[in-house]
Amino acid sequence: RATAVHDVDTALLRSWAVPMPAVEGDKEIRGHVLVLGGSCEMPGAIILAATAALRAGAGKLTIATGQSVAQLVALAMPEARVIGLQEHDSAGITLDAVAALDPLAERVDAILIGPGMRDEPLTAELVHALLPRFEAAGSTVVLDACAMGALLHPPADWPQDRAWRFERPVILTPHAGEMAHLTGVGKDAICAEPDPCALDAAQAWNAVVVLKGARTVIATPDGTLYQHEGGNVGLAISGSGDVLAGVIAGLAARGAALDQAACWGVALHARSGERLAQRMGALGYLAREISQEIPALLEHIA
Ligand code: AMP
Ligand code: MG
Repeated sequence: RATAVHDVDTALLRSWAVPMPAVEGDKEIRGHVLVLGGSCEMPGAIILAATAALRAGAGKLTIATGQSVAQLVALAMPEARVIGLQEHDSAGITLDAVAALDPLAERVDAILIGPGMRDEPLTAELVHALLPRFEAAGSTVVLDACAMGALLHPPADWPQDRAWRFERPVILTPHAGEMAHLTGVGKDAICAEPDPCALDAAQAWNAVVVLKGARTVIATPDGTLYQHEGGNVGLAISGSGDVLAGVIAGLAARGAALDQAACWGVALHARSGERLAQRMGALGYLAREISQEIPALLEHIA
């Protein structure tokens, strides 16, 4: 099967200008992002993702995380409103979060779920409980890390003989290992043929699938395929994917369409890595430094 692959290059990005606010616009206009995740072992992932969403130009940020770390997260991230959620002892956020977050559904433009979460079945249950509320309100949903396990743990009333399919398209950001876990296909097979794998998954799941790697492919449910090659090996570090997910959520909150937010996010993340590599050296820059490059890049590319 031959599907045309579109390069994520400057021309493509410019043809999809990220919506810009009017000069007199307030923070509501630039989009409200909700980042849900974190655990007492990994509270930093949510800070990385949330920072990246603001660096991508989103106007307003709410973080929802376990109550055991909420105060610390709030101190580390003074820009955010932080909601502390009830936790399980096994580092999972409980379903009480649904009631706590329900009032936000109407006010949020994009929701990112997953950074730093640990308990896959519990997180999946939470995703399925929250999705209809946020979808009905028109928010863009981005799932990363173990929140993508929603695919493997459908709601109890979903027919057992049918694979889960999202009602409305969401954005998923798996690396090859996560893709292997989600599809049951071996990681080597995915790395050998990422394009058909991403396309099939995007159509089957009704999702924009960002299959990450040194070469990242972005597949959409309607069968369009994009590729991005670039960045540098220094981007293969802890926290790097959390930054990418946050950038994508921030762009989506500003009003970018799903495929556009995904392609812009991948390009900004990669080019940030290139700039850091040039300035600091190819290895050893930190995930938290990636976001700092984004505002200048956004202005330069757009
Ligand atoms: P994660 O594995 O979830 O932390 O995500 C890692 C991020 O770094 C993804 O956006 C990858 O595309 C990117 N990345 C990993 N390795 C490389 C590489 N060798 N060159 C460029 N980008 C990479
Ligand atoms: Mg990751």
